[in-house]
Amino acid sequence: MDITLVDRLSRIDHLTCSNCGSTYSPFQQHTLSSCCHLPLAAQYELQHSLSKSILAKREASMWRYRELLPVLSEKNVVSLGEGFTPILELQNLARQYNLSNLLLKDEGQNPTGSFKARGLSMAISKAKEFGTEGCIVPTAGNAGVAMAAYCAKAGMKAVVVMPRHTPEAFKEECYWYGAEVVLVDGLINDCAARAKEINADGKLLDVSTLKEPYRLEGKKTMGYEIAEQFNWQLPDVILYPAGGGTGLIGIWKAFKELQALGWLDEHVKLPRMIAVQAANCQPLVETYFGRQQNAQQYVGKPTIANGLAVPRPIGEQMMLQVIQESGGTAISISEEEMLEGLRELGKSEGLFVAPEGAAVWMAARKLIATGAITKSENILLLNTGSGQKYMANITGMHNY
Ligand SMILES: *Cc1c(COP(=O)(O)O)cnc(C)c1O
Ligand SMILES: [Zn+2]
Repeated sequence: MDITLVDRLSRIDHLTCSNCGSTYSPFQQHTLSSCCHLPLAAQYELQHSLSKSILAKREASMWRYRELLPVLSEKNVVSLGEGFTPILELQNLARQYNLSNLLLKDEGQNPTGSFKARGLSMAISKAKEFGTEGCIVPTAGNAGVAMAAYCAKAGMKAVVVMPRHTPEAFKEECYWYGAEVVLVDGLINDCAARAKEINADGKLLDVSTLKEPYRLEGKKTMGYEIAEQFNWQLPDVILYPAGGGTGLIGIWKAFKELQALGWLDEHVKLPRMIAVQAANCQPLVETYFGRQQNAQQYVGKPTIANGLAVPRPIGEQMMLQVIQESGGTAISISEEEMLEGLRELGKSEGLFVAPEGAAVWMAARKLIATGAITKSENILLLNTGSGQKYMANITGMHNY
């Protein structure tokens, strides 16, 4: 790499194995740690002063935090304007359910219609920095679409491997971005096995969730934004639809980094992190409530929330740690409940969210009903995607 220290903005220092803490160079391309075969996490120099005031004149995208991101040279940034999505007040639902403060961060407004844009913008920027010629990804849908778009922008070859039952809109969009689309009978873990076969010669960079270390760095910017948009305070509780887990892990990583930087006052309490899953595929819920030792043998079913059909997430331990450390919990939502939530968010708030986002609202309702969340708390829902691409999953379920 031709990165001089002069034009290097990033404060990335090294990567660490999420299991044993072994360190790795930020100047080499990595996948899983070679010590434990588990995800690597980027670490930054945070002890030297860096003032929040740098943000004042920055663009409204996730790249406003570039010192805290891993891309070394600005010329390698591959951007379609991702991030800095709005946090909306859901006054109508709040009134209806007697809640003091109900908010929703709308990630459906990202390029390609989901928060996957953040992770893939980062991963493809790093791939460009390392001189990669092409990328491959096993995906439930949104990650493939995002990868295809950013690879197109970067002039890289893209191969997307997704379940055959994925709604047409995801497959089509990949095609129109020029990606090669491979369909597999099964869920994302089956797609991962197929991607490995296709890429047996290792010519393509596999940007699978958490196997590639920098998607997490893109996702964590949601945490920075939440803090900045809350004026460096934080909500009491964050509900997040957890599949592979980068969002949940990333937001928590961001809060820890902001604490280390001193951007969050030491009196600011970190939110409880709630992982929301689909009842059809709830490996985390099973492990969290002690019904299995871990998800390595878990078998899931498809769900209308395609992004949640991740039966054996490699980041399981990291997710459980976030839930435990934050005092959160894990909860699952049925297919029928998701449809109810989708309709409610549509009818009451004018939002057409992804079923994953609908699940998050229904999880809030359930936890409010049991008292696990109180009505006076500041509640932040993460809607991770737009409902548009899921049309095939949800049509034909009602009369007009
Ligand atoms: C991928 C995806 C998820 C799951 O996100 P993770 O960060 O992998 O847990 C949730 N919602 C949508 C819309 C997705 O595309
Ligand atoms: Zn290790």
